[in-house]
Amino acid sequence: MTNPAASDQIAPLRRFVAQMTQLVSQSQAEEIVRPKAKALLHELIKTDGWLPDFCTVPHPQYYQQYLLHADPLERFSVVSFVWGPGQATPIHDHMVWGLIGMLRGSEKGQRYARNAAGKLEPIGQEETLLPGDVDEVSPTIGDIHIVKNAFDDQPSISIHVYGGNIGAVKRHVYDPHTGSVKNFVSGYSSPQIPNLWDRSAQVRAELN
Ligand code: FE
Repeated sequence: MTNPAASDQIAPLRRFVAQMTQLVSQSQAEEIVRPKAKALLHELIKTDGWLPDFCTVPHPQYYQQYLLHADPLERFSVVSFVWGPGQATPIHDHMVWGLIGMLRGSEKGQRYARNAAGKLEPIGQEETLLPGDVDEVSPTIGDIHIVKNAFDDQPSISIHVYGGNIGAVKRHVYDPHTGSVKNFVSGYSSPQIPNLWDRSAQVRAELN
């Protein structure tokens, strides 16, 4: 994607943001919003030409979280999560519902939960996401996991949607050996955010 304004390539993201805004305006109950948001995210990631190039750039050391949109009332946020080769998260939680839509490449995730003794335990098998797949996390369905790029030799990109402004949510990283918990907030890598609103090229074409 090079010149979004000229061909309105970003339209699918604008549509998604508009639909999400309508959705959270009708209800903010997770059991209502999360499944509907999941369907919308499935639709969004069917194609990938809408993602601006500057939101696809990996960092040699750290996975990147480019903000695509934050609802002004902080009811949801949309992030382009870019993995460099071999990059991985620590074990972490989210404290709000989250959706992970695989756009390019592949990522692997392992879920964890605390057992009766309070110790972290892996839950189920490691799962692999492929383009078009959407995974879900939430304090209500399992919120702790570790995620990594499935590839050691290429970047991967997933589109994340959260039930809040994830750049302002207090959450936790876990040490699997000691079980110790540390607070963190993830923040955003973005020096800029996508311009969803310049539709002048289309409108100009319709002038006469
Ligand atoms: Fe996560």
